[in-house]
Amino acid sequence: MSSDSTRMCELLVGLPDVTVLEVIETDIRLRVKLETRGDRPPCTRSGGPVKVKDRRDVAHAVLPCFGQPTVSVGRKLRWACAVGCGAASFTETAAAIAAPRQKLTDRAGRWATFQVGHHGRAVSDVAADLGCDWRTVMNAVNCHGQALIDDPNRIGATATVGLGEVLFCRDGPFKHWLWSTQVLDVARGRLLEVVAGRDAASCCKWFAEQPVGWMVRICWATLDLSGSSRSVFDTMLPREVQIADPVHVVKLAKFVLDEVRRRVQNETCGHRGPKSDPLYRCDRQP
Ligand SMILES: [Zn+2]
Repeated sequence: MSSDSTRMCELLVGLPDVTVLEVIETDIRLRVKLETRGDRPPCTRSGGPVKVKDRRDVAHAVLPCFGQPTVSVGRKLRWACAVGCGAASFTETAAAIAAPRQKLTDRAGRWATFQVGHHGRAVSDVAADLGCDWRTVMNAVNCHGQALIDDPNRIGATATVGLGEVLFCRDGPFKHWLWSTQVLDVARGRLLEVVAGRDAASCCKWFAEQPVGWMVRICWATLDLSGSSRSVFDTMLPREVQIADPVHVVKLAKFVLDEVRRRVQNETCGHRGPKSDPLYRCDRQP
């Protein structure tokens, strides 16, 4: 390959300190053969020269090129002390290319995490783009996403906090419902935490673990009118103004109106109305 096309391949692959040797196009993916640049590392014990003990090809999925899944194939070398000082042999590490035991390059892993975490794409969908399996992408998402979750500034300053009950999954042979409670920054539209269960105790425990400086900045607490939400706010945020969520207020008003309609119908006619009854039908009108 000419130096220009080699440089273009290096930019597409996006790996530092590598030279692209060859690009092979198969029916299902592009294979880019690489060679790492750089000096030989010194012996870990004596600091002297080392020699090649073993070499093997290692493949990593990289970002798709020209709409095709692409893998880079690099030669990984195992070094041994050239003067025989007794130091154990070791392999070269290329943390900038890929984290240990990851089958995606660092850049492809960060891209996959962004696709899943930010765009909400299915892991299997992203795996199909990269030409690898579900587990490979999920490992990368766990590896790169953990740092984002652990970011101490992730929650930030919150003025309005809200709670929402969400069915997390149906578990086991009897599809037992497992609930979760989402803690939200309502004003900024940000999910702060997902707490297991929908009882007040779990949420109270989460609030109790938060810094005092964060808690005192909260001014409003939005309610979904459930008893557990009210209990959490009464216990943990007793001085903040509680606001009812309009969706639940309308739902409650509609429920009460329905009760009145049924009572009036029964008092007037002694039975519920037939399908054609205007009092019955008014509830079904858009
Ligand atoms: Zn040595």
